[in-house]
Amino acid sequence: MILITGGAGYIGSHCAINFLNAGYELVIFDNLVNGRIETVNSLKKIGNVKFIQGDLKNAEEINNVFKENKIDAVIHFAGYLEVEESVKNPAKYYQNNIIGTLNLLDGMIKNNVKHIVFSSTCAVYGEAKYTPIDENHPKNPVNPYGKTKLIIEKILEDYDNAYGIKSICLRYFNAAGADSLSRIGECHEPEIHLIPNIIKSIFKKERTFKIFGTDYDTPDGTCIRDYINVEDLAQAHHLAYLFLKENNKSDCFNLGTEKGSSVKEVFNTAENVTGEKINYEITQRRAGDPAILYADTTKAKKLLNWKCEKSLEESIKSAYNWEKSQF
Ligand code: UDP
Repeated sequence: MILITGGAGYIGSHCAINFLNAGYELVIFDNLVNGRIETVNSLKKIGNVKFIQGDLKNAEEINNVFKENKIDAVIHFAGYLEVEESVKNPAKYYQNNIIGTLNLLDGMIKNNVKHIVFSSTCAVYGEAKYTPIDENHPKNPVNPYGKTKLIIEKILEDYDNAYGIKSICLRYFNAAGADSLSRIGECHEPEIHLIPNIIKSIFKKERTFKIFGTDYDTPDGTCIRDYINVEDLAQAHHLAYLFLKENNKSDCFNLGTEKGSSVKEVFNTAENVTGEKINYEITQRRAGDPAILYADTTKAKKLLNWKCEKSLEESIKSAYNWEKSQF
């Protein structure tokens, strides 16, 4: 059985579908703070899922999961993920993300589980010194969210040396899109991300999509990011798990499309793909947004045998279909 922490959340649940499609049995452990029970119910219709509502901050709860189930490996998503909130309330992030992970790792040590795939982020790099960003880029996260992820990566290094726990850290760029069959999708409240915000403005006519700044040093003045499809990300977790089984070796990988898209390009693509005219306004820059971030994924292609298959158009289309299915 595979344990997915945070499996009721956005990327965790898409990862769960990937494993279920491959015939694995899953245990999903989630406190349902960001995850949704509706998502768990959708997953249960697809395959063999045991859901345990629990919190990683409770060491006994997670230890019991290992004692009561035969877990082969862990895919670890559980954690808070809002950059702005992490700046305002770092204690919440350090306590939840770090202590939660330490408890999870303790459970692994006690119950002799040796493999973990960790959901990391390109936020571990901080300001881009060069693009595309490869895995050797300096790591200077600029907010507590990114710092918690980097600290966990360091903890995993030490736990490999001391306890033989092998880990793969996957540093994603901007996750985008939804399940191709619209069974699950992205739901954050409040929504802060670009593509869901554009899509929501289609369905909620009272909303106006805001472009945060057109005065960046980029060709059209808006920020450039790397939008990687969530099903492609899910496949990378599966390949990372297989890599651990085969090589029993820790490593880290960037995951992105290697192609930067500006906010205006994403907006125009959304209008084209959906055939909708979308209201927008241009506002000030959002604090802390770097101008350009996109990935070099040579390493994941070479060592994990992974490739990004879905285009920005497909990500936007699936996000649109999912949002439509919610009405
Ligand atoms: N963005 C925007 N309007 C929005 C949400 C985001 O213009 O309603 C911009 C944001 O400034 C950034 C890019 O879109 O340049 C991607 O933002 P997102 O929050 O999706 O991801 P981030 O790269 O910050 O993790």
